[in-house]
Amino acid sequence: MTATIIDGKAVAARIRAEVAEDVAAFVSEHGMPPGLATVLVGDDPASHIYVSGKHRACEQVGIASFGRELAADTGEEELLAVIGELNADPAVSGIIVQLPLPDHLDGARATSAVDPAKDVDGLTPTNAGHLVQGRDGLVPATPSGVMELLRVYDTPLEGAHAVVVGRSDLVGKPIATLLLAQNATVTVCHSRTRDLGAVCRSADVLVAAVGRPRLVTGDMVREGATVIDVGMNRTEEGLLGDVDFEAAAERARAITPVPGGVGPMTVAMLLRNTLKAARATRVEQPSAGAGPVRSG
Ligand code: NAP
Repeated sequence: MTATIIDGKAVAARIRAEVAEDVAAFVSEHGMPPGLATVLVGDDPASHIYVSGKHRACEQVGIASFGRELAADTGEEELLAVIGELNADPAVSGIIVQLPLPDHLDGARATSAVDPAKDVDGLTPTNAGHLVQGRDGLVPATPSGVMELLRVYDTPLEGAHAVVVGRSDLVGKPIATLLLAQNATVTVCHSRTRDLGAVCRSADVLVAAVGRPRLVTGDMVREGATVIDVGMNRTEEGLLGDVDFEAAAERARAITPVPGGVGPMTVAMLLRNTLKAARATRVEQPSAGAGPVRSG
């Protein structure tokens, strides 16, 4: 079988173009653009690359962006104060605390301090709870990007067996929840899963979100499965996914490459989340005699 290569770059470009149009409409309605603020602590080179990519993407679609860079030895109190300022800033619709934070800081505590209405990473307990309960909220960008790729490539999910390898709060768990909401039968694997190969081989839809280059080998892929590789592993061979792409593509119905699969979708969905947060939170400038109006 020759697999269809899922073109995340093309799907992401379409979403970015849609967001750009919607941002223009938002600006004419509200007189100011949605705004995304990033909080970066320390000197992690990969984090700097991710954050500047997010700012560039904002600029391309007309979203304002604000970067707060803090020294590696910043204390928790100062970090929480910065998040508090951004929570209160009406020009900021979405806030990202770039992870990982330096070891002395608690990432979960920092991300939980973000106002849930501005939590465009979907990491606050409020948004995570809304996701589990199937209520409207802000869904983490990478998982919604994965679901968008499955939708665009007509992947049958109802009644399908979906296997998610990885159970992080940012990626694995929300993907599993979203697949369940689409009536897939979902199995979540992790580092203590027994016979990972056998579980993966039973998947109609296999999602790898682990962070181990080529952990998923060709023989772990069922003939005709759809394979989504979330992994981004910087190695001496370059950027590699969690799936052995060449071998898996021999058996899969469709598969995402790395790079060019899930990666571009993450930024596109983040932009979409920022616009969604802006629509939900932007208070229009009051005109004379009128009180503030919440936009829908
Ligand atoms: P993470 O927080 O480190 O979680 C990794 C998960 O993989 C954990 O649940 C872990 O199990 C599981 N795992 C580790 N070794 C395993 C093994 N040998 N067999 C089965 N499961 C194993 O990582 P993450 O933040 O979810 O990210 C996962 C990957 O996605 C990374 O490569 C990351 O760079 C990439 N990523 C890509 C994007 C994108 O835009 N494409 C966005 C975010 C992340 P335990 O829970 O038992 O430890």
